[in-house]
Order: sequence, then structure tokens, then C-alpha cells
Amino acid sequence: MPHDPTDHFVHVRGASEHNLKNVDVDLPRDAMVAFTGVSGSGKSSLAFGTLYAEAQRRYFESVAPYARRLVQQMGAPHVQEITGLPPAVALQQRRGAPSSRSSVGTLTTLSNLLRMLYSRAGTYPAGAPRLAAEAFSPNTVAGACPRCHGLGEEHDVSEELMVPDTSLSIREGAIAAWPGAWQGANLRSIVTGLGIDVDTPWRSLKAKDRQWLLFTDEQPKVFIKPERDRVDHGYYGLFWSARAHVHHVLATSKSQMMRDKAMRFVRSLPCPDCAGTGLRPDSLEVTFRGLSIAEVNALSFTELVALLRPVAELSEAAAATSMADSGEATEVAVRLCGDLVARIRVLLDLGLGYLSLGRSSTTLSPGEAQRLRIATQLRSGLFGVVYVLDEPSAGLHPADAAPLLDVLETLKGSGNSLFVVEHDLDIVRRADWVVDIGPGAGEDGGRVLYSGPVEGLEQVTDSVTGAHLFGRVEAPLRPQRAPHGWLHLRGVSRHNLEDLSWMCRCAS
Ligand SMILES: [Zn+2]
Repeated sequence: MPHDPTDHFVHVRGASEHNLKNVDVDLPRDAMVAFTGVSGSGKSSLAFGTLYAEAQRRYFESVAPYARRLVQQMGAPHVQEITGLPPAVALQQRRGAPSSRSSVGTLTTLSNLLRMLYSRAGTYPAGAPRLAAEAFSPNTVAGACPRCHGLGEEHDVSEELMVPDTSLSIREGAIAAWPGAWQGANLRSIVTGLGIDVDTPWRSLKAKDRQWLLFTDEQPKVFIKPERDRVDHGYYGLFWSARAHVHHVLATSKSQMMRDKAMRFVRSLPCPDCAGTGLRPDSLEVTFRGLSIAEVNALSFTELVALLRPVAELSEAAAATSMADSGEATEVAVRLCGDLVARIRVLLDLGLGYLSLGRSSTTLSPGEAQRLRIATQLRSGLFGVVYVLDEPSAGLHPADAAPLLDVLETLKGSGNSLFVVEHDLDIVRRADWVVDIGPGAGEDGGRVLYSGPVEGLEQVTDSVTGAHLFGRVEAPLRPQRAPHGWLHLRGVSRHNLEDLSWMCRCAS
């Protein structure tokens, strides 16, 4: 089937990925297409497993073989032919494990703009040299705190963990971090040789001795006399403080069990030099509107917009007349703040105003991560691509669905196609086209029940989606379990929650 470029459709023939039953379907381009059906019907197999997978495969075919080897390819989908398929970008909820160093700021690329703002328009201490934008990132050599290398935390042994029960004597095992068996007996003999009583409860030992036993780097050699009735002649034993022992195990042991045990005595604390920010001290001294970049990274997007808006709204003319070539009211500051505010407003519209730039991307819910990616794509300037989305409404309050639809409309309006796997009926209603897969799940699904404008789905009697969309059934699309208990939560403060207490019915 030669492709006619004036035909604005993607033609799929013979798709049999997973449970799909040799599916033929035509999908309009430059439109929002909703893929619907019950869980397990095969709608994701068509959208992601077939269409997105084929677009990826063609992309990798077009790049040089050496580059192809660098990228882990997904297998070719089971489909006879697809024509008219544009390049695709997947905005899935989960896409690999995000690295612990990636944050909301890096994910949205807003951190780059903010660093530029601090470099170009920040207020520097008198006499301090202007720093490059990289100096405001803990992930660069120029910006990393020298003490913690940008990690913001330090790992070390803690006294409470190494001696969990201070009523025990050393002989009774007060120093839990020390080895047992022969090595433990050896250390007790050495301690006795050093004149410390191993039968005194830990808490009654002299503070100076306790500190020394746990933390010293000294390693005295002590002659251990043979016990009575023994024929050996004694030996020299080497002392290890509890910390030295833990560090030695972590640095040298190949036994995972030993290392796991040693890690039980280690905890992480904020680095004292950078207060956990990972940034070098002179970067932290640069401020914008009175705040360091670390303080700005901790603000919610709602607070951040309030901070930057007054600068963004300065007239360019007023800024130009300030003759300074740097500072908070220059043209470059107005432009950067304006850009930041415009981009953060999209995030507020998508119901993400409670997030901060510094929030680690590993703590984001899948729905939050996907909406951040959608907002970021708005700025990418790509056109002529298919965005394949996985339930973009996930985790969103129903009232926030309207702004999400506006953002999706904007992506479509810039000349892109949207293929959306979705349960939310408000989103499905706004689609230009719906592909309903079913009728059931697994072997009972995998057929196209309907493909066309949304209204037409009303006539399809065996479509569960149609039944819900046109009010033939009241129950929600997702199966619900009957609650049989109460869950009590008190004083919950995390992310966007502040000291909440509530009870809810739970089903498991
Ligand atoms: Zn540090």
C-alpha cells in the first residue's frame, strides 16, 4: 500500500501484538485519538506496543549502526504494515528508573534558566567574582561542595546505632558494631590489656574511654598473655575502634552479608559545609530577591511565581534605562524571569503548584512525572510528531482535567498528533476520534469495536466505554472493591500535605 501524503491517516494492518486479533485500523493525524477499553483489552498494546514501538524501530533504523548499538532497542512489533506514521514521542507514566540526582528542576529544564538568572542577575557579595551558570549546580565540578562532592550528605557511623543498649558491658556485647566470635574475644582481651574493664556496664565507663573505643583512629598493639592452663606463648593483638572496623568492612569486604551488617551502623546526615544543598559556599552567597538558589529550589512553584513576577513585569524600557550591566533589574533579569514565570504557570495550570524545583524525581507519582513531561514538551517546539500518552489524567483531581485538556490542545495546535490511552470520560469526550478495543480483557479482548468520531460509539452495543460514555450504565469504568475497614491517619505532612488527619474506608 503506497502512502499518499495527502491522506491524513495512519493505517495499521494486521496488528497482533499481545492479545490483538489481527487488527486493521485507520487513525487520523493532527488529531487527538483516545484509545479506550477495559483494563487488559489491548488498548496499550495498540498504542504503545504497536504504534510507538514501530515509530521507535524506524527511528533506530535511520540512525548510524554504531549509534544504534548504544540504544537499547525494543523488539519489532507484531504487525504486517503501518503507513503514514510520524515520528513518535512517548510520554509514559513510568519510563525507566529516574536517577536519584534528577529533580523536578532538571526534568523540566527549569533549573538551567534559574542558574542563568543567578549567574547573570544575582546579587554578589562585595568583591566576589561573577560565577558561571554551572557553579550553581551541585552536579558539576564547578558547583559541587568540596566536602560532600555535591551529594549534600555525609555518611558516618553513629554512637546510638553502634551501642544500642548502654546497660550492657563490653563482654555482654555492648558494642554491636564489633565483630563476634574469635575477633570479638580478641578485641576484649586487647581492651582489658589497655586497662578498661570489660564487665562494667557501657554507660558507667568514662566518657573519654567510650569515645576512644568507638571513634579513635589509633591502632595500638597489645601483648595478649596466654590464659592459665594454656601452653601457647601469647601474641600481639591489633586494636580497631568500632568506627575503624565498620569503615574497614565497607572498604574491603567482598561479603554482602558483612557489608549489610556494617551499613546498619551508618547513617546519613546533612553535610555541615553546605547544609545539605550540595553547593559550594560561594555559590550559596549569591542571592536573587534575597534568597540563595538553594532556598529558591525549596520554594513551591506557587511561591516561586510570586517571587519572580514583580521582576518579570518590569517594563523592558525601565530595565534598559538601568545602566548596570548586571543586577536584578536589568533587561536580562526581566527576560529570564518572564520566561520562568510563563513556563511555571503551565505547571500551576496542571495542578502541580505544590511541587518545588529541588524535589527529587524519584519521589514523584507516575501521574506527576507524566504531567511534568507534557508541560516540558510544550516548550520543545517539535511539530509533526505523535505524542503517545498513558492516562494523562492519572492522579489529577477531576476539576484539573480542563487545564490538562487545554495543554493537550496546544500540543495538537502546534501541528502534532496525540494518541492517548485513557479511562477518564471527560478526556475521552474531548477527543476527535476514539478507538475502542475489547470487548473484554486478555483473550476476550484485542478486537477493534469502534474507530471513529466519539458520537458514533453510542451505537456500539457491546462497548463498555460507550455504555458509560452515553449513560447506559452508572457504575464507574474501573472495578471497585467494597470497603470493609477504616484507615486512620494523623498529622501527615509530606509534599503537598500539611498536618492532615483523616479516616478513610479501605478495601484491603
Ligand atoms: Zn556539602
